[in-house]
Amino acid sequence: MSVTRILVVGLLLSGLSGGWPAPATSQLAALSAQEAPFDLSGFRDDADVALARWAFDRFDQAELELPALSLSFHDERAACEGHVGYYRSGAPASIDICGFNWDRFLVTPKKTILHELAHAWAHQTLDTETRNRFLDLRGLDTWQDKSVSWEKQGIEHAAEVIAWGLMDEDLFLTSIGETDAVLLAEAFVLLTGRESLR
Ligand SMILES: [Zn+2]
Repeated sequence: MSVTRILVVGLLLSGLSGGWPAPATSQLAALSAQEAPFDLSGFRDDADVALARWAFDRFDQAELELPALSLSFHDERAACEGHVGYYRSGAPASIDICGFNWDRFLVTPKKTILHELAHAWAHQTLDTETRNRFLDLRGLDTWQDKSVSWEKQGIEHAAEVIAWGLMDEDLFLTSIGETDAVLLAEAFVLLTGRESLR
């Protein structure tokens, strides 16, 4: 199994002292092999780099700041607990992307990386009040509870809404119930305080 690992520090670099230069204008700079203090040698191929670059650019464009995180690409799904993507909180947060070995720019891998990055963003950013207002808007009872099904957890609705709002093509969510575009846009604004990119 080919495993890729990259430490993505992005905008947070500007808050660190010593050693590493801050990216010039965006988190994308962190993925530049020329400027990088990061080990890019483990990327499976240029398509992994391109997908990550695209996803960070979408967060940049929406002015949503991501935390430091570790991003890994895998041929198989084992690292993702059988899923196509997996987020683990921590410092840095850990995101695994699994099983996309051909065209990385199909809608599913694009949505997957946005969804997992959205978890990292939400974990860093959302306070209890915002989470509760989002739960009310979505008609949900719980933010995160492993005993509750995926589609009834606010944390997953939030990641889906963020992925929807940052996508650059049509994305029809089938995962979280009410997906009227006006309501999704309202939910995006509630979460982020910004308009979606759609
Ligand atoms: Zn998720």
